[in-house]
Amino acid sequence: MSDAQSVEPSANAALSDAALIAAAQAARRHAYAPYSKFSVGAVAQTRSGRFYAGCNIENASFGLTVCAERVALFKALSEGEREFQAVVIATDAATPTPPCGACRQALWEFCGDIRILSVARQGAVAEWSLAALLPAAFDDDHLAARRGEGPSAPMPAPSSGAPA
Ligand SMILES: [Zn+2]
Repeated sequence: MSDAQSVEPSANAALSDAALIAAAQAARRHAYAPYSKFSVGAVAQTRSGRFYAGCNIENASFGLTVCAERVALFKALSEGEREFQAVVIATDAATPTPPCGACRQALWEFCGDIRILSVARQGAVAEWSLAALLPAAFDDDHLAARRGEGPSAPMPAPSSGAPA
């Protein structure tokens, strides 16, 4: 089994914001941030009752750096998850930190208008909707409009059992 943190779907109802925040704070300890010194942890909570943790991973070639939110999202996606209900971010900043623009766009692709929670160093929590953070979001509907197809069809579920 991967190190993806998960809980049984039946436990999902009991998966409180506090538990998600604790998981994001724990993930933050794995951050690789020698350049910015800004360690971030994140958790992507799925509708299937699991959560996937991520941390930011920097690189000496700065453009290769990946944010904690996208690490958590991509871990979930790579395990077949496609439906999300929240992303939780933990930093040691004085005030809650929202996701960067790139992460907002990446999250919108798969999550739509989900809850975004962020916890700061001393426990202050902020909550936004992703739509509020990314107004007039660009997505597949715009590509479909360019093709004259109207709104896009729902995203297909991942195939099962097929080799990657
Ligand atoms: Zn980001």
